[in-house]
Amino acid sequence: MVVEAQIEKKTLISYNPADGSVVGELAMASADDVRLAVTRAKSAQPAWNAHGIRGRLEVIRRFQQILTDQKQQVAALISREAGKPVVEALLSEILVVLDSTRFLLENAYSLLKPERLPQGNLVMKAKLGKLHREPYGVFGIIAPWNYPFSIPATETLAALAAGNAVVLKPSELTPLVALELQRLLRKAGVPEDIFQIVIGEGPAGVALVESAIDKLIFTGSVPTGKRVGEAAAKRLLPVVLELGGKDPVLVFDDVDIDVAAAGATWGAFMNAGQTCLSVERCYVQRDIYEKFISACAEKAKQLRVGNGMERGIDMGPMINERQLQIVETHVDDAVRRGARLVSGGKRLAELGTNFYPPTVLADVTHDMLIMREETFGPVLPIAPFDTEDDAIRLANDSEFGLAASVWTRESARGQRVAEKLQAGAVMLNDMVCSFGISEAPHGGVKASGLGRTHGRIGLEEMVRPKYVGTDLLPSMKKIWWYGYGGKFDGQMDRFVDALFSRGAMKRLRGWLGSAAALWRKQV
Ligand code: NDP
Repeated sequence: MVVEAQIEKKTLISYNPADGSVVGELAMASADDVRLAVTRAKSAQPAWNAHGIRGRLEVIRRFQQILTDQKQQVAALISREAGKPVVEALLSEILVVLDSTRFLLENAYSLLKPERLPQGNLVMKAKLGKLHREPYGVFGIIAPWNYPFSIPATETLAALAAGNAVVLKPSELTPLVALELQRLLRKAGVPEDIFQIVIGEGPAGVALVESAIDKLIFTGSVPTGKRVGEAAAKRLLPVVLELGGKDPVLVFDDVDIDVAAAGATWGAFMNAGQTCLSVERCYVQRDIYEKFISACAEKAKQLRVGNGMERGIDMGPMINERQLQIVETHVDDAVRRGARLVSGGKRLAELGTNFYPPTVLADVTHDMLIMREETFGPVLPIAPFDTEDDAIRLANDSEFGLAASVWTRESARGQRVAEKLQAGAVMLNDMVCSFGISEAPHGGVKASGLGRTHGRIGLEEMVRPKYVGTDLLPSMKKIWWYGYGGKFDGQMDRFVDALFSRGAMKRLRGWLGSAAALWRKQV
């Protein structure tokens, strides 16, 4: 009842986080609107599926072209609504989406078409097995504000390629970017009811989870993700949960300090640290610890903070005051417990309400909030380690497990450490950009979520597997169709023996001979 009451609020205003100006004002969907959108999507989906994979990929090809042509306009809107520098919108949103269309155009047909399943069970040899991949029907997608274009777009494109309809609930903070995605998809030829957007706050998400969708992809924080997971479990709604992270970076002492520090600062500060794959913890081998801290502090101080719409800006504002306060709480807590503030650490009120500087903290420990909870802001907390085992233990000492990064020039060590890290992805000598590699599955372990998006495995999430087996000897009765207690018992005993006991193959040949004789007698 509370949900219904809140959802009746009429309009939603989207603000530019850099200067507080209004980007747009939109009508909010009611719970009835959400249900209606899903009903319309359900009726339209069979016709979309009937286009076939190649027909749907043609639409995606047109979308690719349209987005390429209009990339500057889309990037500018992303910057206005989410605050990031325009160049970052091009890099981490537009380019990622274009590459996902490239992946689908190159691979979706071969990955989604029916597949012959070779069968090893000798008694089933006279059957042809095929694996079909069928669309679920209607996907609900609930998306966050930090990548308002690339997250819902990559998920939507894969769902559409597989023959599904999509109803998207974008974050209340970035609804206009979602509407821009809708405009581009419609222009490319996606029918109106096949991709719909329901504008609203959390309660619109609740209504979508409770609607008649067939599967849900939720991207957001761990607490909301748990609530969504519980609601979905009540009705056995399949879900993919892409949740928060606290990604560690391990820097060994054989690295080029300047290169590793450049990587760590970019990984911590891009999008003002508001990236699920952000560097949230940095562990550095003791021999190079102080040098590495100085290199990071130097780089952090050089970054130009300001309105992302202006040329030459490296880091934009945070999304809102609430997010900024979390960062302040974490930094203050760390300093109070003995961390060393090396650069930044004080909001930049002269730039506007939502600006916080790139901040480097040293000597952090795991009893500080900054090392345990997701900060989601421009802070690089650094701690020392002595041995490889120490580094692995520290990295795995977290409830999260989205991604991790290992820096070393010794490839064998990199591989060895990667195997031991509890994470959905590990990058050696780089970070964050696995999200832009369309072949790489994206998703976490532990509290960072369930299931995957992107790549072959992400595409498999968009379809239900269906096995279709055809008997190639339709006029032959099978020997296991009753007759228990007679000869069959002995035959079955010998058959199991023949297959799985020692000397099996020899006996199997004999058994197959008598089975063939029996078959000849029957046909
Ligand atoms: P939230 O969990 O606050 O919100 C995510 C989405 O869920 C929003 O659209 C929100 O709507 C909606 N929502 C809120 N309450 C409910 C509910 N009860 N039922 C259904 N939907 C609801 O996350 P943020 O938007 O703040 O995003 C930041 C978080 O997302 C971070 O933790 C980050 O790590 C994570 N994230 C994870 C990624 C991954 O791939 N693993 C990628 C990007 C971000 P509204 O905004 O209107 O309240």
